[in-house]
Amino acid sequence: MEIPYKIYLSEEEIPRAWYNVRADMKVKPAPLLVPNTLKPATADDLSHVFCDELVKQELDNDHAFIEIPDDIRNFYKMYRPSPLVRAYCLERALGTPAHIYYKFEGNNTSGSHKLNSAIAQAYYAKKQGLKGVTTETGAGQWGTALSMATAYFGLDCKVYMVKVSYEQKPFRREVMRTYGASVTPSPSDTTNVGRAILAEHPGTTGSLGCAISEAVETAVSNEGYRYVLGSVLNQVLLHQSVIGLETKTALDKYGIKADIIIGCAGGGSNLGGLISPFVGQKLRGEADYRIIAVEPASCPSFTRGKYAYDFCDTGRVCPLAKMYTLGSNFIPSANHAGGLRYHGMSSTLSELYHQGLMEARSVEQTSVFDAAVQFARVEGILPAPESSHAIRVAIDEALKCKQTGEAKNIVFGLTGTGYFDLVAYQKYNDHQMSDYIPTDEELQKSLAQLPKVEK
Ligand SMILES: *Cc1c(COP(=O)(O)O)cnc(C)c1O
Repeated sequence: MEIPYKIYLSEEEIPRAWYNVRADMKVKPAPLLVPNTLKPATADDLSHVFCDELVKQELDNDHAFIEIPDDIRNFYKMYRPSPLVRAYCLERALGTPAHIYYKFEGNNTSGSHKLNSAIAQAYYAKKQGLKGVTTETGAGQWGTALSMATAYFGLDCKVYMVKVSYEQKPFRREVMRTYGASVTPSPSDTTNVGRAILAEHPGTTGSLGCAISEAVETAVSNEGYRYVLGSVLNQVLLHQSVIGLETKTALDKYGIKADIIIGCAGGGSNLGGLISPFVGQKLRGEADYRIIAVEPASCPSFTRGKYAYDFCDTGRVCPLAKMYTLGSNFIPSANHAGGLRYHGMSSTLSELYHQGLMEARSVEQTSVFDAAVQFARVEGILPAPESSHAIRVAIDEALKCKQTGEAKNIVFGLTGTGYFDLVAYQKYNDHQMSDYIPTDEELQKSLAQLPKVEK
């Protein structure tokens, strides 16, 4: 059967339920712990921070399928199903016998997969009768997606944006404001934790961990507000499973069996969503796949981090998570893939990696942009720097196939577009991009400060 350039699905083929990979894991991801007691977090512990229904999803290790409410599914219809593209042009340019496919999630105004979870989280907040939600954003993709989702459901949205991005990415900020969100540069003087950080580090340009603390404090101290997060959490991986379910439906339509599945990993949500149904098959012994997580060499949680309980935020107000981490005090050097600069990694992916069900690879920034440009010139799409990490490894694997003559099926997640990342492309084009990799001493320093948790 001739495989088209784009494998489109019909609206009917948008999944009716998300798939929860935890249900098929024999060893479950480690539970979140309450910071002061270090006891596993219960629904009661979490419900003042997160929406009730989302707490339920966060703690649900048992139900394999969770129905997607119609209001969310109808919103998905505006930009889903997303195409699975056969990268014929890239294959030809590489001269590889491999077949390369990518699932493109950049077909919406937010420009990334983050909208898949933003709309779900906004829906449950609305359903609970809340006034609004708070969140943090680093590079701005999550804040943009969330502001689109809250606008749709008529909710207020307060975004704490890492100060350096607030200043460097005024256009992202303006998209959020256009969708009705209020955007505050973090650290700010609007919260106790922000004021404390400013007093201790005057002139700091902020970090994701600090913005999270501010957003959580604002949620718990304002009646009718809850905090929402765009990655890392189990609930986010659950919502992102639409990516993997659609990918599997599209591949199955043409009888294609993926050999290698590749995704970039920041907090792990797009990768977790893409691989979920495939890992489910692996866990049930039905099929085997090679799965590769790709992270920046500047923020290598999987490849150089430690599997341990750690704080999720600088202010230490969030529950602790067991994950591959570089330590919550680790501040990665200025890498242009803002969405991949988190110190930790999803607990679910961390456990899968720990069990040897997936591999991880770290790649350097300039080689990522080499791949991005090569891809853009033949496939047309200008990829986000984050997504380009996956492109780098997809190309590397395709070139290995060229040497061995194997026609492997390589599938990767193209999470978004790079229109707001042109400063990064400018640096690359001007040959001013650097490849800073942390030394072992630097990593040791932040890892030495991991909390002491028996387990
Ligand atoms: C946020 C982001 C990522 C990384 O987040 P994950 O939760 O690891 O998926 C990757 N690509 C794009 C385009 C993003 O915006």
